[in-house]
Amino acid sequence: MTDLIVVGAGPAGLTAALYAARAGKTVKIIDAEGIGGQIAKSPLVENYPGIAKMSGMSFADNLYEQVSSLGVEFELSAVLRIEKGENGTHIVVTEDGDFESRAVILATGAKHRLLNVPGEDEFQGHGISYCALCDGAFFKGRPVAVIGGGNTALTDAIYLSAIASEVTILHRRDEFRADESLMDRARSIPNILWLPNVNIEEFQGSGNLTAIRYTDKLNGSEKLLKTDAAFIAIGQVPNNGIFNQITDLDENGYFISNESGATKFPGIFVAGDCRKKDVRQLTTAIADGANAAVAAWKYINAAVSSNS
Ligand code: NAP
Repeated sequence: MTDLIVVGAGPAGLTAALYAARAGKTVKIIDAEGIGGQIAKSPLVENYPGIAKMSGMSFADNLYEQVSSLGVEFELSAVLRIEKGENGTHIVVTEDGDFESRAVILATGAKHRLLNVPGEDEFQGHGISYCALCDGAFFKGRPVAVIGGGNTALTDAIYLSAIASEVTILHRRDEFRADESLMDRARSIPNILWLPNVNIEEFQGSGNLTAIRYTDKLNGSEKLLKTDAAFIAIGQVPNNGIFNQITDLDENGYFISNESGATKFPGIFVAGDCRKKDVRQLTTAIADGANAAVAAWKYINAAVSSNS
């Protein structure tokens, strides 16, 4: 029996493991995809307080080393479900066996929704980004595009308009689901240009992104937009469905919890991008991990003393 099982080895999960291990708890982390989560795919991180520049991969590697040196075990496996054990414990069922713990922290992250068009994969990190806040500064004074019509796309466009020479918003409809206040603000910014009613067909370039090929849905014509970057903001997809028996999900599939990550299910905590919240950043994932770990070890202490 482990005190704590953390599902997900991104920044939130690794931080939770770090805090719990330093509080003297036995901890196991389970992740099907290895270490680091989304941050490991970010070539350059410039918005982590106190560290001007770092690669996401080196950050994840360092954090993993720090956590492993405390005796935290890592299991490379897919979690299938979580069942109730005896005396309030939890059984985490994976493809490679079952693991029992007193508490569980779900730090399963969220994936950016992909457009799934040619070139998207090829130019990721070479002009295509899913995080304006992380990568916008690389395109100072250059033309960029934002794809999407929701609050993220509009927030990104407004943010980028202060950095880039111009920001073109490409959206598949002529109605935007973003809040009217954001729309009004964006409309008042002269270097934000609008391309509604388009289908993105392909990202083009040679080494780096140089253009987006799209279809104008009103007349079927194909066109090219020259741009140095495309920020794709068409929503995120949490991968929490398998846990819906033991946690509450909001209408978008995110875990519902309080600020300490506690869910309404005793012993089940959540942390990071998988959780319903406003800001999904490395800093907030780490804060979530620490909060959830403290809540979990307090829960574990109480469970141990009531069973003894
Ligand atoms: P979202 O509201 O789901 O919007 C996604 C946008 O992407 C929609 O415009 C959608 O088009 C488009 N889209 C989805 N799939 C697409 C595809 N395959 N191809 C092309 N376009 C596609 O996602 P979000 O903007 O990331 O926002 C998520 C949540 O966070 C929302 O609740 C939002 O309010 C909140 N949020 C709030 C703020 C804020 O308050 N400042 C900032 C960011 C996010 P359609 O409209 O045609 O469906």
